Amino acid sequence: MVSLHQRFILTLHISVRTYRAMANVGGGAPAIGIDLGTTYSCVAVWKHNRIEIIPNDQGNRTTPSWVAFTNTEQLVSDGAKNQITKNPANTLFNVKRLIGRRFSEAMVQDDIKLLPYRVIQGPNDMPKIMVTQMENEQQFSTEEISSMILKKMKEVAEAYVGQTVKNAVITVPAYFNDSQRQATKDAATIAGLNVLRMINEPTAAAIAYGIDNMLGLTGKRNVVVFDLGGGTFDVSILTIDEVGKFEVKAVAGDTHLGGEDFDNRMVDYCVEEFKKKYEMDLTGKKRALGRLKAECEKAKRVLSYATQASVELELLHKGIDFSMTFSRAKFEELNMSYFTKCIEQLESCLADANMTKGNVEEVILVGGSTRIPKVQLMLQEFFGGKELCKNINPDEAVAYGAAVMAAKLSGDTTKMIKEMMVYDVTPLSLGIETKGDIMTVVIGRNTRVPVKKTHNFVTSEDNQTVTRMAVYQGERSKSTDNYLMGSFTVSGIPPAPKGVSVIEACSEIDDNGILTVTAKIVSTGRTEKLTVNNYGGRLSKQDVDKMMKDAEKFKVEDQQFKRKAQAYNGLDDCIYHLRKKIRSNDVPPKDLKNMQYALAETTRWLSNGRVAELEEIERRKKYLYLLSRFPFQK
Ligand code: AMP
Repeated sequence: MVSLHQRFILTLHISVRTYRAMANVGGGAPAIGIDLGTTYSCVAVWKHNRIEIIPNDQGNRTTPSWVAFTNTEQLVSDGAKNQITKNPANTLFNVKRLIGRRFSEAMVQDDIKLLPYRVIQGPNDMPKIMVTQMENEQQFSTEEISSMILKKMKEVAEAYVGQTVKNAVITVPAYFNDSQRQATKDAATIAGLNVLRMINEPTAAAIAYGIDNMLGLTGKRNVVVFDLGGGTFDVSILTIDEVGKFEVKAVAGDTHLGGEDFDNRMVDYCVEEFKKKYEMDLTGKKRALGRLKAECEKAKRVLSYATQASVELELLHKGIDFSMTFSRAKFEELNMSYFTKCIEQLESCLADANMTKGNVEEVILVGGSTRIPKVQLMLQEFFGGKELCKNINPDEAVAYGAAVMAAKLSGDTTKMIKEMMVYDVTPLSLGIETKGDIMTVVIGRNTRVPVKKTHNFVTSEDNQTVTRMAVYQGERSKSTDNYLMGSFTVSGIPPAPKGVSVIEACSEIDDNGILTVTAKIVSTGRTEKLTVNNYGGRLSKQDVDKMMKDAEKFKVEDQQFKRKAQAYNGLDDCIYHLRKKIRSNDVPPKDLKNMQYALAETTRWLSNGRVAELEEIERRKKYLYLLSRFPFQK
């Protein structure tokens, strides 16, 4: 049995040129799989019976999900992350924790207190991110920022396969609700991608595990995928069989629990220590908190292999150098409530899947935070000392599975891919509000998708001609305690005594986990449809189109910036050569004067800091170049 990890290493040795040659044999760009993570993203492609995890321009197999705006350009990935200390207010990360949520949600409010960038309440309670670029304040939706990361992943793939990539499978946490899924899909559209399917992250990881172990599999195997990443936690229970059937039995999780929360607890502890020691409060000191967080994250990683790690920051606040040591035990104590929550979710998932611990044959670890020894220990103890499966790469498995799915959906004929069947479930119950704020469940959680169900509702008052259909996702009995997905009005109901007119509601969840609800007045046949667009919390088609155009505009601006920067550099070179020539003492006095004048004039022109047109820079460059090479002909 070759483990995934080993296979990744083997495939690394294929050169880009060989890969391109192979890709061209089949013709047409392959579809890619993208794991859009809270902290890191990863892209992969299936070609010639194997998965390639595609390295980015820095040679890294995962890419930071960061975007930054400087006064001259827009940066995505490593470039953005590396300049955070200089430019914290315009450096964006963790946007996945905000996407598809409302600004007023408590979780969003908690998060934005710790973010160094500004998030405001946009129209319809959508969070909007404020940045300053070229002295102008600009607002971005979370979809736009996520689209910049997806676009980067698309470009990483294109550089590798040597073709324009259009089609992609994108992963989302299993526990994402409809609004978060829709918003992610919109982000992909803005990035110029056609989403073949959105699949759940743990399901993708299970596919990676299953494909890798297919040859050694006999009969059925019940597996738990425990996926603890930077911002989200998902647990899925699947049955995988030898013919390539992946059947999700149940999912549970929390879209707001992950490594970021562990870092934040460490930061809070440091803030307390600082207060005790120096009687100064760091709350709201965004730069200091940002630096602390980066150091705590590093210390957290160290604590996965060492029992102590120090956090040291020079001049953290008001000239004070701060340092403290975290023991592994302290880290575990600070985060124990989160770890316990993960185990509770696992228990509830097992119950939903009608399984006991003893039924589980394999526990697969996915997501960077599963490297934490305490998490592994608690899991192992939960399963009575069972060995955990660590032979799939926790950072790459999700993109791996997504790429397998992308190959399947684009008609790859490899037997294993063609025969693979994946059955997923919906993580949350879907309900329609009935009289008295009651959540009437129309599709229960953990129902296999795609699914379509019809329910009849009757009027609750005499001669009622209008009714509002409000659609919620969640598990609470009171509708308003759940998440409002949208609502629409059904009008034109023929007057009749209460309970007589029937409204037939058809609720559908597609393969992507996205819902549609249609209502029909049975006696007249009049139909209304809930397109989530008519709920204000989502981008409209026009918004998405505009953002796609804006993204193109950014591309043009970036290219212009690059051309200009190259031209400036060229001019700098010319000045250098001219200066050298003047110093060489072999220029006749007449030409020397000309040269000195040109040099002084260009240096003055450059130092006044004006942003010049490209043509002007090029003209000056050409003049200096000719002057330094052929002074006698001037
Ligand atoms: P992911 O979303 O799967 O990319 O996971 C990223 C999260 O994993 C971040 O919060 C990282 O800080 C965390 N992480 C990565 N490596 C380690 C490690 N060795 N120990 C603890 N946490 C880690």
